[in-house]
Amino acid sequence: MRHQLFIDGRFVDAESGETLATLNPHDNATLADVALAGKADVDRAVAAAQRAFPAWSRMAAADRGRILLKLADLIDAHTEELAQLESLDTGHPIRDTRRLDVPRTAGCFRYFGGMADKFQGETIPVEAGFLNYTLREPVGVVGQIVPWNFPLMFTSWKMAPALAAGNCIVMKPSEITPLSSLRIAELMAEAGLPPGVVNMVPGLGHVVGQYIAEHPGIAKVAFTGSTATGRRIVQASAGNLKKVQLELGGKGANIVFDDAFLPAAIHGSAFAIFHNQGQACIAGSRLMLHEKIADAFLEQFIPLAQSIRLGNPLDDATEMGPLTSALHRERVLNYVEIAKGEGGELLAGGKSPSGELAHGCYVEPTVVRAKSWRDRVAQEEVFGPFVTVLTFKDDEEAMQIANGTDYGLGSGLWTRDLQRAHKVARELHAGMVWINSYKRVNPGSPFGGVGQSGYGREMGFDAMREYTQVKSVWVNVDAQVPPHFVR
Ligand code: NAD
Repeated sequence: MRHQLFIDGRFVDAESGETLATLNPHDNATLADVALAGKADVDRAVAAAQRAFPAWSRMAAADRGRILLKLADLIDAHTEELAQLESLDTGHPIRDTRRLDVPRTAGCFRYFGGMADKFQGETIPVEAGFLNYTLREPVGVVGQIVPWNFPLMFTSWKMAPALAAGNCIVMKPSEITPLSSLRIAELMAEAGLPPGVVNMVPGLGHVVGQYIAEHPGIAKVAFTGSTATGRRIVQASAGNLKKVQLELGGKGANIVFDDAFLPAAIHGSAFAIFHNQGQACIAGSRLMLHEKIADAFLEQFIPLAQSIRLGNPLDDATEMGPLTSALHRERVLNYVEIAKGEGGELLAGGKSPSGELAHGCYVEPTVVRAKSWRDRVAQEEVFGPFVTVLTFKDDEEAMQIANGTDYGLGSGLWTRDLQRAHKVARELHAGMVWINSYKRVNPGSPFGGVGQSGYGREMGFDAMREYTQVKSVWVNVDAQVPPHFVR
C-alpha cells in the first residue's frame, strides 16, 4: 500500500519522490510506504494554507463548527476502520482504540465544533465616552507537530481548536505512525473542509519538523513530544518570533497514602502505567507508596501486572500490545539495565516475551523498586510499561519526592481523607491532578504541564485562547474631544 502527502485538498507525492515504510510493531512487517515530505513540500503546504486562510477565517464560526461536527459523525461511522488502522500502526490494543482512541477523537472534534460560535470577546468598562471591546482573532497558519503515541487522538486535540478558531494548519504527524492522521485528512475533505485549510506533511523530525518550527510563513507552532525536541523548537521559532505551545514529557507521581481504598488504587495504578504500554506523557510512572501499605499493595499489584495479557493488538483479548517501534523497545529495555546498575530491585518483567511475540516490539509489564528517588529511573521518562516504586513515610516526604523532578505534567493521589486530598492537589507541581483516579481526560478540561513539561494548554476554552490573539478595539462613542493636544 502507498500513501501520499495531503496538500491543498489533494493527495500528492513528495517533490523528491521519496517514501518511508511504516511498520506494524506486532511483527515489524511493512504496513505501507508513505510519501516522505521535505522542505519543498512544507513550502507548498504553507502556501496552500496561506491562500485558504482569508476565506476560512472569515467564514461564520457556526459554519466552521458545522464542518467539525460532520467530521465527528464521519469518524464515528468509520470507528472500526480507524480503530484497526491505529492498532496496526501503533500497537494499541484494539479494545482501547475502539473504546477510547476513536470515540475520544470524534468527541474532541464534536466539542470544538460546538465551541466555534461560543468563544467570544468582551466589552471592557473603560472611561466615559468610549466603547472598548476585544476580538479573538485566529493566529494564521499554524504548524502542528505530533508524536507517535496517540497519533489519531492528537490530530483532534491539535486540529479541532485551531480550526474552530479559524486557523489553517500544516501538520506533521510522526514519521513512525502517519496512517490515521492521513485518513482523517481524507475524512475532513469529505466533511467539506475547503482545500488548503489542513495540510499533512509526514516527514522526519529533524528535517520537516525543524523547518516548520523555523518557517517564516508560520505564525505559531504547537508541539507534542519530548522535552529535548521542545527545546529545539523554541530555538528554531525565534526567527519570526512564533507563538509556541509545548506539551512535553512527564514523570507522573502516583501517590498512594496509607488510608487509600487499596483495591481501587491497585487497579487504577496499573491502568495509570500500563495503558498504551506506558507510552503516555501522563503515565503514572512513579508509584509512590506509603511505607505502611507498600507490601500489601505490591502483593496484589505485582501479580496483576504479571497477569496483563500481551498479544497481537488486533486480538480482542489483548490488554497490552507491543511498543510502537523496535528502537523504542531497546530504549525501554536499556532502563532495566540502568535500574540494575543503580541498585534497583526488579520486581516484575524487565524483558521481552519469548515465543510468538519475540519478533514484535513487546516488553513485559515491568516493576522496579528504586533505591532513591534521585535515581535515573525515578527521574527520567522511560515512556514504556515500566513503573518505578518509591516509598515515603509521611505527607511531607511524599511532597518532596513528588515535586522532586524537572517535570510537572500529570499526578495522582489515592486517599480517603478529603482535607489531605485537596491540600496535596494544591501543592503538587503539576498541570493536572487526579484524586482517586488517574489519566482522566475530557475535551473541556485543560491539559498541559508546568516546568519542563511545557507551557500552554490544550482542550477547553484555554485551547481557544491559545489559538487566537486578542485585539482591543477603541470606539469614540460620544467623547466631545480627544484628551490630548486640546487647544
Ligand atoms: P519526539 O520529540 O522525538 O518527536 C515528536 C515529534 O517531533 C515527531 O513528529 C518528530 O518527528 C518531531 N521532531 C523530532 N525532532 C524534531 C526537531 N528537531 N524539530 C521539530 N520536530 C522534531 O518525541 P516522541 O519520541 O515522538 O514522543 C514521545 C515524547 O512525547 C515523550 O517525551 C512524551 O512524554 C511526549 N508526549 C507529551 C505529551 C503531552 O501532551 N505533554 C503527549 C504525548 C507525548
